[in-house]
Order: sequence, then C-alpha cells, then structure tokens
Amino acid sequence: MSEALASLSPVGVLGGTFNPVHYGHLRSALELVESLRLEQLRLMPCAVPPHREAPTCSAVHRAAMVELAVAGEPHLGCDFRELQRPGKSYTIDSLMDIRHELGAGHSLCLVMGCDAVLDIGNWHRWQELLEWAHIVVIARPGWQLPQTGTVAEWLESHRQASVDVLRHRAAGGIIIEELRPLAISSTEIRDLLGVGRSARYLLPEAVLDYIKTHNLYR
Ligand code: ATP
Repeated sequence: MSEALASLSPVGVLGGTFNPVHYGHLRSALELVESLRLEQLRLMPCAVPPHREAPTCSAVHRAAMVELAVAGEPHLGCDFRELQRPGKSYTIDSLMDIRHELGAGHSLCLVMGCDAVLDIGNWHRWQELLEWAHIVVIARPGWQLPQTGTVAEWLESHRQASVDVLRHRAAGGIIIEELRPLAISSTEIRDLLGVGRSARYLLPEAVLDYIKTHNLYR
C-alpha cells in the first residue's frame, strides 16, 4: 500500500475531541492545506475518546460546532464517521474506512499536534497507522516531540525530509510541519467559559453563539 503511486492531491484528516473547535485547529488546518497543497482537510470529531475521560459536551454538539466552524471554507470539511460507529473511536478504524473509500492510490494524511504524538504509543494498533496514511505532525506551542523511546525511534525512522512524499506515495511517511504557533486550547476555552469569562476571538463567533444558545460549558 505505502509504495503505491499516489495519483491525486492528498486528503488530510484531523481527528480530535473539538470540545470546542477553536482557531488553533482552524488556522493550522488552513495553513496545512496551503503548505501541503491538500485537496481537502477534514476535521473528524471523535464520539468516544479511547484515551481520555468522556467529554462533558455530547458528540452531537461537538460535531455541530465543527460543522459551523468550517462552513464556507471549501478546503475544510467535516467527517462524522466516528459518531456513527458504536464503541470507542479508534483512529485506525477510521483510517481504514477512509482508505477504502479513497482507493489504494490516493494519498491520505492523518494530521495531529505534538501533544497527540506524545501519547500515540498508547493508541490502539498505532504502529499500523502508517500502513493506511502518512502522518503530519504540527508543532504546537508548549509541546515537544519525544526525544527518546519507542515513539521517538519510530518518528525518526519514518520521518521524511521533503513533503514531496505526500504526492509520490499514498501512505507511510511522517512529516513535521512548523506552522503559525497559536497557543489556544479547548481546555482554556472551557475554563474561561466555566468562570463566566469571555472566549471571544479564540474561536469563531458562530461557535460561540452555538455555545450560548445551548448553554454549554457553564
Ligand atoms: P483539549 O484542551 O481539550 O485537550 P485541544 O485544544 O488539544 O483540546 P483537541 O480537539 O484535543 O483540542 O485537538 C485535536 C487535534 O488538534 C490534536 O491533534 C491537537 O494536537 C491539535 N491542536 C489542538 N490545538 C492546537 C493548536 N493550538 N495548534 C496546533 N494544533 C492543535
């Protein structure tokens, strides 16, 4: 699979809890579309995160906010397949599904921030991820990639010097991208809203309106 000649512009998938989606996600997504010349980058909210406590906000609300956030931006999209699958939302299951939809020759990139990579060694069948997609790691303020251990060795052995790999192969490479650093997190937004402070300008106005209408994070 990984050696198959990639025939079309890469499709990217950014998984997360998006509790709620914010400009750190959105700006990084758009910058990646441009720097990697992606056909599209899809934000994929998880229903049941396997490695963290269940979000207090339902998957349906989190997905609705993602949909509002990307509306009108043709290069960003949503992928709600994890909401339709019962049980824990394992990324490997979603990647295999997307691969079957795209076909073997279409380049596919799983996008994640540095903090997600630090935990990847605990993910279900994590060493198989590269059979189905490339992995694009976004540097994130306050986080560093692992320097020692199994994950560090895995990163080093699959890391590619050039993004050209994304157009020449369908899967199997790791790219590390430095984008505009935006120190915004969903945790901080939840904390601000929880104590009645404003989260304005950290996330789209339409998402803030949704939060107010549905009385979330209070
Ligand atoms: P929380 O604070 O609840 O952990 P979060 O802000 O990290 O949430 P997630 O939904 O967990 O958001 O993130 C989804 C993906 O987006 C992860 O791979 C994460 O590393 C990445 N990401 C989140 N915020 C940023 C940011 N500001 N810059 C770059 N990547 C980000």
